[in-house]
Amino acid sequence: MADPTQFVYFFGGGQADGSTEMKNSLGGKGANLAEMTRIGVQVPAGFTIPTEVCNYFSDNDGAFPEGLKEQVVAALERVEEVMGARLGSDTNPLLVSCRSGARESMPGMMDTVLNIGLNDHSVQALAEHSGNAQFAWDSYRRFIQMFGDVVLGVRADDDEHEDPFERLLEAKKASAGVKYDSELSAEDLQELVSEFKALVKQRTGQDFPEEPIDQIWAAIGAVFGSWNNDRAFVYRRDYGIPHSWGTACNVQAMVYGNLGDDCATGVGLTRDCSMGAPGFNGDYLINAQGEDVVAGIRTPKRIETSLKDEMPEVYEQLETIGKTLENHYQEVQDIEFTVQKGRVWLLQTRNAKRTGFAAVRIAVDLVNEGLITPEQALEKRRIPADDLNQLLQPVFDPQKKALAETEGRLLTKGINAGPGAASGHICLTAAEAERLHNIDPEKPLILVRRETSPEDLRGMRAAEGILTAFGGASSHAALVSRQMGKTCIVGANELNVDYIAGTVSVGDIVLKTGDPISIDGFTGEVFTGMVDTTPSEIVNVLIKKTVAPEDSEAYQRYAQLMEWVDQFRTLGVRTNADLPDQAVDALAFGAEGIGLCRTEHMFVEHLEEIREMILARDPDTRLAAINRLLPFQQDEFTGLFRVMQGRPVTIRLLDPPLHEFLSERHLQEQPDLAEELAAQLGISVEAVRARTAELHEENPMLGHRGCRLGIVYPEITAMQARAIMQAAVAVQAEGIEVHPEVMVPLVGFQTEIDNQAAIVRETADAVFAETGTTIEYQIGTMIEVPRAALRSDEIAETAEFFSFGTNDLTQTCLGMSRDDYGGFIGYYRENDIVPFDPFQSIDLGGVGRLIELGVAGGRSTRSDLKIGICGEHGGDPASVMFCHHAGLNYVSCSPYRVPIARLAAAQEALASE
Ligand code: PEP
Ligand code: MG
Repeated sequence: MADPTQFVYFFGGGQADGSTEMKNSLGGKGANLAEMTRIGVQVPAGFTIPTEVCNYFSDNDGAFPEGLKEQVVAALERVEEVMGARLGSDTNPLLVSCRSGARESMPGMMDTVLNIGLNDHSVQALAEHSGNAQFAWDSYRRFIQMFGDVVLGVRADDDEHEDPFERLLEAKKASAGVKYDSELSAEDLQELVSEFKALVKQRTGQDFPEEPIDQIWAAIGAVFGSWNNDRAFVYRRDYGIPHSWGTACNVQAMVYGNLGDDCATGVGLTRDCSMGAPGFNGDYLINAQGEDVVAGIRTPKRIETSLKDEMPEVYEQLETIGKTLENHYQEVQDIEFTVQKGRVWLLQTRNAKRTGFAAVRIAVDLVNEGLITPEQALEKRRIPADDLNQLLQPVFDPQKKALAETEGRLLTKGINAGPGAASGHICLTAAEAERLHNIDPEKPLILVRRETSPEDLRGMRAAEGILTAFGGASSHAALVSRQMGKTCIVGANELNVDYIAGTVSVGDIVLKTGDPISIDGFTGEVFTGMVDTTPSEIVNVLIKKTVAPEDSEAYQRYAQLMEWVDQFRTLGVRTNADLPDQAVDALAFGAEGIGLCRTEHMFVEHLEEIREMILARDPDTRLAAINRLLPFQQDEFTGLFRVMQGRPVTIRLLDPPLHEFLSERHLQEQPDLAEELAAQLGISVEAVRARTAELHEENPMLGHRGCRLGIVYPEITAMQARAIMQAAVAVQAEGIEVHPEVMVPLVGFQTEIDNQAAIVRETADAVFAETGTTIEYQIGTMIEVPRAALRSDEIAETAEFFSFGTNDLTQTCLGMSRDDYGGFIGYYRENDIVPFDPFQSIDLGGVGRLIELGVAGGRSTRSDLKIGICGEHGGDPASVMFCHHAGLNYVSCSPYRVPIARLAAAQEALASE
């Protein structure tokens, strides 16, 4: 806040105290209302109370700072002046709205009250001034309903399914014999107002407040209070928005979209935000108030198809405003507007939320249209790196979908609001979806609702996809699922959702809770039963090669974007791949090497030899078993070197505790195993059992694993080194360059890496002598226990490269078992003990600090030490950004995360320029 004593920022009549730059104080909505006023877009007058006041309010038990009251009263007078109307007037009453607006938009999570200023007198004046008594009384009943819910807390009890105001409204429609709210007469509405007030009195014991200024203060308090409601907390946790930001409160003159058939209300996008196609589009309703569009009560019409014919001049005004805003903000805008008697008023503009598909298309199109530069196109806020994931998401297998159609399984169609394809079991309430998801996270669920509201957030998150009967492309369900990257269909009007009976039906077809259903978020089609999915278009071009690049526009835009990405990023991106086919995929996604090949994954195919090795009591037997593994390992390494064509390949020596291959659990689960092993080894069943018991460890993750295996059983390391070197020699002989990097796991002492490096070098020399060839190779270490990070200067005397194994480093730094933390991490997240899951995103304060120490120590010994990361964090955008700053040379992640890591790396390189 520029001036700590200024609590009110006015806008209206072409003048504004605030601007876009003041978003942190005024919130997105307030800052943009000010900015639009400045650039000459028509906005109803009003003022913004900044976020700092919300924080004061939260910290002081709902008290307002001194001086606020006077400034609000003065600002209200200015609003009255600009709008030519007065609060509580007997002739031309001013009504205002009171709306939340945080720094980052949190769609529908906080509260809004409209039509403030109505009472038994002003409603009469509004009726006379507008010449429309039905409108006036309808506005009054809406006001009591909204204020009653938001401010006074009159809403459905736990055991009620329906809002108590809605129940009275439904009863009134039934007694009046009408279907729609808009068909109720002024008299019906007047009666309803009395019934609503009686309901408020009965529920709260208080009369409904009559004084406009009291109504305003109560609404401001409710808006600030809503920053701390449960769904806002959940949303902030999901999107990493600090709880300390607070919301601003916007008090603004009402304009009316429900004064007659030359009035309308709507929400529009300057481009399509589902797939990114250019052109103004959106939803509108004639003769309605804004909340009707967003709440999804009536299904709106589409601006791009029918507004042109119904209100051609309004359409033109909207297109012009859209262009003005897009040019000014250099971004796709999401606007809210009201048409009052043919004139368009803007109530909000903000950078539009979009799917990953739309984000890429819009960013690339804006560059090609000359509106922004490639550097701007890559900004994090335009394409959150994680959203690229959506482009790699599955779609329905076309043949399976065609089959579903011929089988008559196409149930209905709605509006395609969130791309992707999802099949799952029907769930009718958010709570049920959350409950089922907690029991079995693998079981896919589709949340089917009449419409969704912000309360459904947790359930939407748990579901694979969302399907609603009402609402348009801008309804709550659509906005939120798009942002979550969930497949979503809204406004499937034929759908009859019966919460009480637990059924979803279209005509005679009735599905029950738990039945399978499939939704195509690209087309809006809904199918009964499951439909198989197939990979995305990008994956079809890059991986499956079933589509030629020139036939896929989506791929071409992706390729253009990734070209810019590689131009700007300085951090390398490698992949974690154990098998040649994984390496092939990763290369197609742009991987520049293998950062981690976990050799034990190859062993799973050869359990017999491994178990023989484990059970061996003497070195000779062990060596014989190990040597039987050599050709298999060598084959796999050969495949990797061939695929990688001279790119670096980091191969890690055996790491996991041996009990993963043979333990008492294996013997229990496979009753014949002990006997088979006994026969295979020529030892007794008892000996097998005894040796297995000996291997038991209470805490295997901290037990005999990592380099401790290769140190105690040097023949394992020697065999692996030989397999690597023989493979390298063979592939080099084929004329293909090879760059093996042998990596030692779980090192904490310099002596450990010294021990293993000596074995590797000795073996390599032997292979080179036998073959008369040499190979350029390196020996390095993982840094995955705190001691290694702390003594990295010593370790770097031997190690030629470092790779941070942040899975184990997190486990050992936090003392939090990577296998067991599931039991409490949910609670930790819910209660803000940790801001995110430290196994997904690097814990900067602890693990991050160790990484920094590790880098500094390592480079103090070896200034050009190559350093990477190969824990799961290597594919997490925030962690990638940290790695850029920590001075790492590369990150390594799973193949499908490679494009995401590349983008995150470029974004951070640009942001830190
Ligand atoms: C790590 O610990 O981060 C790592 C990459 O090794 P693994 O996950 O195999 O223990
Ligand atoms: Mg590890």
